[in-house]
Amino acid sequence: MSKLVSVVVIGGSHAGLAVSHKLLRQTTRARITLINPSDEYYFNIAAPRFLVKPDSLPQSKYLYSIPGAFRDYPADRFTFVKGLVTKIDYATKSVSVGLAANSAATATPAPTHNNATSFSFDYLVIASGSTTPATLGRSGIQLPFKSTAFEDTKKVIREAQVKLSAARRILIGGAGPLGVELAGELAEVAGPKKVTLVSRSRELLEGATAPVQRAASSLLRQRNVEVLTEAAVVDAVYEAHTQTWKVKLSTGSTYTVDAYIATTGTIPNNAFIPKSFLNAQGWVNVDSQLRVLEDGVSRSDTYALGDITCHPYRLLSRVPLQAETVVANIVGEIEQGGKVRTYDAHAQKKMMVVPVGQSTGTGHVGGWTLFGCLVWFFKGRDFLTYKAPKFLRGEER
Ligand SMILES: Cc1cc2nc3c(=O)[nH]c(=O)nc-3n(C[C@H](O)[C@H](O)[C@H](O)COP(=O)(O)OP(=O)(O)OC[C@H]3O[C@@H](n4cnc5c(N)ncnc54)[C@H](O)[C@@H]3O)c2cc1C
Repeated sequence: MSKLVSVVVIGGSHAGLAVSHKLLRQTTRARITLINPSDEYYFNIAAPRFLVKPDSLPQSKYLYSIPGAFRDYPADRFTFVKGLVTKIDYATKSVSVGLAANSAATATPAPTHNNATSFSFDYLVIASGSTTPATLGRSGIQLPFKSTAFEDTKKVIREAQVKLSAARRILIGGAGPLGVELAGELAEVAGPKKVTLVSRSRELLEGATAPVQRAASSLLRQRNVEVLTEAAVVDAVYEAHTQTWKVKLSTGSTYTVDAYIATTGTIPNNAFIPKSFLNAQGWVNVDSQLRVLEDGVSRSDTYALGDITCHPYRLLSRVPLQAETVVANIVGEIEQGGKVRTYDAHAQKKMMVVPVGQSTGTGHVGGWTLFGCLVWFFKGRDFLTYKAPKFLRGEER
């Protein structure tokens, strides 16, 4: 039998899981090594709901075992490594990995120093995604909008839930879908909470259609959320002695609140990626086949997909088609057949579905505005957690 081709996938979230499963299903000639700092798949999409309303969703709906999702494949075809890639070395075609204490790695990697190790590849897939200032605790209170490397996700979630439940005065900086969803959830929880949502632009939900922007604003105001437009947070300082945040706005006013939540900013997880792959903002340049561009030239051995690429609209809804593209092209090369697949970000329909509380919301699919009951049906009732098992198994299309 011919030797298995080694594919290393960096990042075990929505994009990395989709590529790994699809490769395992579509070719018997590849051995996959999936590397992620946590062995849990975190369905972060539902964070606005379960961070604010801990009893609304059990943890089993948004945290899943990654190794468990691969147990049906032959052992020689899949390895999960709990670790963080720190370097890609094209001279040896290998990645260096800082391992967590209890890594589940079962391969026989070449050992190196400092609790690090390396894994060689024929093909590399970069799916390391992005994080946010709030996730890192760099701006406002720390809230796990994305998973955090090597931290106990359950513990971080619990601490965030306690902080949000105790806060009486809350200011949210940023009125994109996440800011609006959080404001809607917070407005519904018990206790006398005063919620303020600050939008830099004249309307909420920049990029949405005008009726959707108006609906978001009106639904929040009906729920006594204070909506400030054409205002930006210019400074936010935590005062330990009063345990409050002083938040200065561009309008000149200052708010004193128990919790300041920053919902803006997307940070690429690119510390290990060669600079020659990155655009000026730090995202990975890719060609239409999703092959990585190094100084403008396509690499034949490296692909990227999901949030980490230079493509606009960093959305989960974009991941399945990107994963199909990457897998079709790798399988085509391994099996030496099949048509080259291309991906066009602009050809995918634009949509936004934004629950405002448990039972209503707003949104659009292309130019069609969604009624509140449809937003409830598609997302608001359980924040898409019914889809999480499909994303976990790479079955979502
Ligand atoms: C709160 C919130 C709600 C959202 N809601 C929606 C929504 O309703 N609909 C929608 O379409 N999109 C939504 N999004 C966007 C969606 O979360 C992203 O598009 C999606 O997570 C992208 O998936 P990904 O796998 O590319 O990256 P990520 O989910 O960012 O995952 C990257 C993975 O790579 C790992 N990683 C990073 N660095 C390394 C390394 N060096 N070595 C190994 N592993 C590494 C990370 O730990 C992580 O597990 C939301 C985003 C947020 C923050």
